Amino acid sequence: MIRAIVGANWGDEGKGKLTDVLAEHSDLVVRFQGGANAGHTIINQYGKFALHLLPSGIFHDHVLNLIGPGVALDPVAFLEELEGVLSRGITHPRLGISDRAQVLMDFHVLLDTLEEERLGGRKFGSTKSGIAPFYADKAAKTGIQVCQLLDKDLLHERLVASLEKKNVLLAHLYHHAPLDADALTEKYYALGQRLKPWIADTSLLLHEAVQSDKRVLLEGQLGALRDPDHGIYPYVTSSSPLAGYAAVGAGLPPWAIREVIAVTKAYSSSVGRGVFPSQIAGEEAEELRRRGGDAGEYGAKTGRPRDVGWFDAVATRHGCLVQGATQLAMTNLDVLSYLKEIPVCVAYELDGKRITHFPATPLLERVQPVYELFPGWLSDIKGQTDYRQLPANCRNYVEAIEKMVATPITLLSTGPRREELCYREV
Ligand code: GDP
Repeated sequence: MIRAIVGANWGDEGKGKLTDVLAEHSDLVVRFQGGANAGHTIINQYGKFALHLLPSGIFHDHVLNLIGPGVALDPVAFLEELEGVLSRGITHPRLGISDRAQVLMDFHVLLDTLEEERLGGRKFGSTKSGIAPFYADKAAKTGIQVCQLLDKDLLHERLVASLEKKNVLLAHLYHHAPLDADALTEKYYALGQRLKPWIADTSLLLHEAVQSDKRVLLEGQLGALRDPDHGIYPYVTSSSPLAGYAAVGAGLPPWAIREVIAVTKAYSSSVGRGVFPSQIAGEEAEELRRRGGDAGEYGAKTGRPRDVGWFDAVATRHGCLVQGATQLAMTNLDVLSYLKEIPVCVAYELDGKRITHFPATPLLERVQPVYELFPGWLSDIKGQTDYRQLPANCRNYVEAIEKMVATPITLLSTGPRREELCYREV
């Protein structure tokens, strides 16, 4: 059984917690895109973790955790994160890194940072983890694969080729000192040697897993609205966070993915820039931000305050559609318990007309949210594990949204901890 767990919105939907829960019933957990630029928050018996590159299955001894060829592997970030979890009692995590994954280098971070500075007010709100320059190099065929770290001469040759244009750019656009291929070769060859124990042909491992009917969980990062093709371009990430890409980025046949679990919050949040129609402001937003997540709505990677707003049924239906969601998990339901009435964005108004589809960015920037108010439940539901025990108004809220997004809601998260979860038969 191959399942993908992916975001239906702007990211930070609570995928990390659910991956941790579902990993328990998986043999392999695979990251298929992105890099250390986002974070999954996981709270379990070992404590609270913000994972950036490591797959969320590392807390389970029986899970093999793979970093697929579609991932941007920053070896320094990987090793630091691994040391961090080892120092907190996670013994012997089982890990594999694809020999075809490409290496995110220091200079990608540098170029990302310099470019955001150059753009000033026009910046994209990058986490400055080097993701855009990394995927640009990959597309331009000037990237470096993990397997190339192990051959010093080849690595040097690739770095010289990669730096030719970058050094011109650094000198003339950014007025920065040039980079030295010799020093970088030494540094990354040494890092390659440290990664060596985990480097493998992960695609082969996955094909074997499909043959022997293993349980595989594909773990997405960010959300559908940050997809470069189907999201709010240009305020998107540089690799596809869609389940359709999971087959490519992990190394699996597309037909093998049987279940696509999209994740949404019971309200909306977004970190980074880009259009967010149901965003709220002022004291109303402050209160939701303060109450949201496990410790307020602040980015797991950057600590930046997240923008917050009411649930957006138009955006989420679009997210489910482009993800090909077979089911939806709703997190942070407990957060809304303080509200007497809960607005839900049920449509947009564009030039005086009501629309229920999610248009391309220039039109989306002009829409106004149309809200419907739902009665709140005003009682504490934190930690509830039985759907039938939830207050009627809470179930009404969930079931009304389920109709609007045309996807069965099968999982409801009622707190940040692993066990705070309701399974719902539909
Ligand atoms: P991810 O990147 O999709 O894994 O999401 P993040 O981890 O960045 O953000 C989700 C936030 O919500 C984190 O602070 C989680 O600890 C928290 N969280 C997840 N599920 C729940 C829930 O059901 N209730 C509450 N209160 N917090 C939750």
